[in-house]
Amino acid sequence: MTDSKATDASLQVAQQAVWVLAQLANVQLPSECKYPEDSEAIKQAKRILWSNNQDILWSKEKTVNLTPLRLLFDQVQLLHGQHKQHYWEATYIKGINPQIPYPREGKPPQRDIEFLKKRIKRVLSLEKLNRETWKNLSLLTLILEKFGSYISFNNSDIALIDMVRATGAVAAALAKNPNAEKLRLIAGDLSGIQKFIYTITSAGALKSLRARSFYLELVTEEVVQQLLQKLELPRTNVIYAGGGNLYLLAPTNETEDKLKEVSQKLNKWLADDFQGKVFLALAHVDFNIRDIATKEFAKHWSEVTQKLSEQKSRKFTDQIVDFLKPRDSHTPCSVCHRDDLEPEKLQPLSDEISVEACPTCRRMFELGGKLLKVKAVVRSQKRERIPGTTPIKLNLEPEPVYYHIFQGKKKSQLIENLKHIPDTETVYLVNDWMIYDYSRATNTIPLLVGNYAQKSEEEEGSLIRAGEMAAKTKGIDRVGYLRMDVDRLGQIFARGLGDNQTLPKLAGLSRQMSYFFKVYLNSLAENRQENFLKQRRIVKVLENTKSLSSDERKNLLFIYAGGDDLFISGAWNEIIEFAFDVYQCFRAYTGNNPDITLSGGITIDDPKFPLYQAADESGAAEEEAKGKGRDRLSLFGQVFKWDEWLGIDDISLIDFDIKQYLHQESKPKLLGILPFVERLERQDIGVNYSRNFVRNLLITAQMQEQALKKFEDSKSKEALGTRYYLHLPKIAYTLARLPNRVLDDSDFRTSLKSPYNAPYFRAIATWIELLNRS
Ligand SMILES: [Zn+2]
Repeated sequence: MTDSKATDASLQVAQQAVWVLAQLANVQLPSECKYPEDSEAIKQAKRILWSNNQDILWSKEKTVNLTPLRLLFDQVQLLHGQHKQHYWEATYIKGINPQIPYPREGKPPQRDIEFLKKRIKRVLSLEKLNRETWKNLSLLTLILEKFGSYISFNNSDIALIDMVRATGAVAAALAKNPNAEKLRLIAGDLSGIQKFIYTITSAGALKSLRARSFYLELVTEEVVQQLLQKLELPRTNVIYAGGGNLYLLAPTNETEDKLKEVSQKLNKWLADDFQGKVFLALAHVDFNIRDIATKEFAKHWSEVTQKLSEQKSRKFTDQIVDFLKPRDSHTPCSVCHRDDLEPEKLQPLSDEISVEACPTCRRMFELGGKLLKVKAVVRSQKRERIPGTTPIKLNLEPEPVYYHIFQGKKKSQLIENLKHIPDTETVYLVNDWMIYDYSRATNTIPLLVGNYAQKSEEEEGSLIRAGEMAAKTKGIDRVGYLRMDVDRLGQIFARGLGDNQTLPKLAGLSRQMSYFFKVYLNSLAENRQENFLKQRRIVKVLENTKSLSSDERKNLLFIYAGGDDLFISGAWNEIIEFAFDVYQCFRAYTGNNPDITLSGGITIDDPKFPLYQAADESGAAEEEAKGKGRDRLSLFGQVFKWDEWLGIDDISLIDFDIKQYLHQESKPKLLGILPFVERLERQDIGVNYSRNFVRNLLITAQMQEQALKKFEDSKSKEALGTRYYLHLPKIAYTLARLPNRVLDDSDFRTSLKSPYNAPYFRAIATWIELLNRS
């Protein structure tokens, strides 16, 4: 951590907040843990941020209450907006794989807040803050984040942690000059990441790909570290960082040249290490300090983001010139295909895999093997080796940086070892929210990554392999690939909050969005019961959610999850269930706001199919889902709204024109795709019956598609007639060949014959077929 006025300012804000929190929880702090008086910079920061909302301000004398927090997602409005009002449960983030919190209508009862205070008391009493730890900004921030993410101080709109972070960031930016009129918003973007991650071909690709995406988290982190060191700012000034993007708040004076220096240094390294494929764009805008608490702030946010994309396109124009220069080419690396290395630099990928690979690819492959159990990472600018760890060297000039990977050890032992880490080094604890673990070394911060992975049964200590996933499926032996992201994220950040688009709220929005992908997604993969199936019976936002089975679905491997998107592989049937769970849990987590949706693409392939192609295909499937109107899933080569896949309860969700066309038909009991698959699975009709049923249904779908081809206007009367009615007699024939116990199920029989279900024949048939094929 840099010792600077800026860090002091932020530390004092954190001390104030923890002090108030301790009072509220009735914790007796030792006398050396004092409430620091407001410095000029803090006074100014509080004035600017909270002048419209005097209640929020905390001080030593004032009575402050812990108050329930409204759901910020409710305030997002693009097209429809949210009409309900939700609150978070008065909860905190538990140690490891914390359970997904779901919002509720109505305030949480006071007894929950009292319970939370008891919890805070217990933890802070055990922790025994002292003179040393009282100066530990990372520790104090973690306390506030753990306990202050779902409640607030005297206010229902902004989470405690976001209030404190924003105040600390502005105070730090003003530390040298409390009367500054302007602030600077810096944005960074590592472009070319997708290409770096996905353009690889080779054995062991799954392992390497995961390593590459983890490596890029470290690279993003290094960019943040370099900026903070150079600008002498504390970490609280980072508004958001992850997946190659970052935003931070800085003072305007003396920063211009420093930014240039950092960008040149990093880009030189990136160019050497990634053959120019990855590039850091850094941009900034200066703005009037008062804008930070008004909607004007969103304009600056958009402007700086816009500047970044201009820089990126300029960079690629420059690159074309580079490509035209004559250069030597050599034998390419067989993993990433770079051909700029002398032949002696290529070596076998590993002891078992003999293909020739470049040093970066070899390093990634090796790293991939260690990531299953990574518990901590230590960043050092001095030490090349720490016994018992694996170093990753970032070859920066003039001095390299090392990230040492701690893995596998018992956690208690690991935490003991951290005591010996000097305060010039930074410790990252991976997905760990235990306060105790953060008080051992001065500079310990959480590294949140969506990194769930099933273990291999074939090779101890290794990640599940594609072949193993395929062998664990129900039905056909295939691997599924899922890509998914939040729809219209840019617009949500640029204008979703309307007049509320202030720094603390934008920070809150991005924090909560990325929690879902980095924190709660792991929990959902690890424990389906606690995070979804059980909650459905308790939590209103989850009512009407669906699932094909109640089985665990743990045969998954996260390749990337963070920010607002994910790329996950797994046993194909489990991938489908997981995609449905993710969609439904995310919608519930965001209060079912109609403007916050996800689009996804799933592809299903042979385990030997090259991973980079699977990544391309699932990416294309996701694009198709977006292209057809978003809030959709592409699966089995077909795109439907999530509600159509999951089953529609509320007929008002059906397209208006179609509803009008079918107006005389009543809504069938089963409507959509999953309900039919679920019923048939439950009946367990055996291979022969299901094979016949699938064949007949597919023939019907094919005839229907063939007949539909001749219509240009898919909503013409003839087209609609063809789509919804022409083939219904065929369905009667198909149904008649099912066993009696299915036919006795009148919901199934009459629903499948309803024209409402005519568009889904192929999807239903394909799904059942894959589930029953060996
Ligand atoms: Zn390579």
